[in-house]
Amino acid sequence: MVSGSDGLSEVEIKGTGELLYKLWWKEGLLFSCLGCGRCCRGEPGSVWLSPREAEDIAACLGMERERFLATYVTERRGRKTLRERLNGDCVMYEREGARCRIYGVRPLQCRLFPFWPSVLRTEESWEDHSLECPGMGQGRHWPAEEIAALLEMSPFQDL
Ligand code: SF4
Repeated sequence: MVSGSDGLSEVEIKGTGELLYKLWWKEGLLFSCLGCGRCCRGEPGSVWLSPREAEDIAACLGMERERFLATYVTERRGRKTLRERLNGDCVMYEREGARCRIYGVRPLQCRLFPFWPSVLRTEESWEDHSLECPGMGQGRHWPAEEIAALLEMSPFQDL
């Protein structure tokens, strides 16, 4: 996925040779989650679920899969996503205690943040998201190879 004459200059769509975007983060990036919950609340946003993730979350909540889907899941663009509360919070986020109810089995999308294709596409996009996420730009150093491996795990390129 990471390629270029210097070995680290651009990212291509897996197996196609098609350039996806310039690798502006070849020196790596800083990020450590501070657990503030800002990415889970306040603004609507899709949290995509694979069938396996839906099974695991239902089991974590002690619910039958069908009841879990009917209660907490909706569909957008032909994909399953967790619902939101009226205030935009993820339905699994509890303001009291500032915690995710399903943290141990949270979807891959949540685990990969902020190393999403849409966030990494440009430095400006990374900076924009940093305004909302205090964990970005500080903490652990993530080398480019590790970031590229996380990008490969992204369930969707439009994430
Ligand atoms: S906004 Fe950033 S620091 Fe806060 S919980 Fe989300 S990922 Fe962690």
